[in-house]
Amino acid sequence: MTERSTLDDLTSGTLHVEINRNATVTLYPFSDFFKGFDQVEAVRSTFGEKTEVVLKNLKVEFFSFRFGYMGVSDVDGHILISTHHLKSSDFKILYLDVVHELVHVRQFMEGKQLFNSEFEYVDSPIEVEAYRHAVKEAKRIGMSEKEIIEYLKVEWVDPESHKRLVEACGLKIE
Ligand SMILES: [Zn+2]
Repeated sequence: MTERSTLDDLTSGTLHVEINRNATVTLYPFSDFFKGFDQVEAVRSTFGEKTEVVLKNLKVEFFSFRFGYMGVSDVDGHILISTHHLKSSDFKILYLDVVHELVHVRQFMEGKQLFNSEFEYVDSPIEVEAYRHAVKEAKRIGMSEKEIIEYLKVEWVDPESHKRLVEACGLKIE
């Protein structure tokens, strides 16, 4: 049954609009877009022997906002990705973002609370764990400290918080 809402009662019947509140989200298999991640050690160390099963069942949702990059749903643990980011960002950045988000997928599976207003973004233990893991992989694939520090410059994070995140990941701004 479709639930419909109207504003009639709020406007004495002068405004005739309806809102169908039952929108469905389109989810795609992660493996349709991201291949070979089950062979990556940084991913295998996240999920262990469950790696294949987790990635096989993982779903992605795309959104078209230019703002924002990737995230994980705290409702069912699927990944959300900006189509703009997917199309335009440097390959290494996308790769590291996936490595980062997969840590959140595991945290969700463990029942951890992904969003916690108690902490600022860069201080959240959830984020620090994911960033540390991505930074370790960034070093392994040969990115310089300078590049990595640049990678940690998230647009909604101010310079002071960026410095804290860099230090939490064991790096230092010269
Ligand atoms: Zn994160």
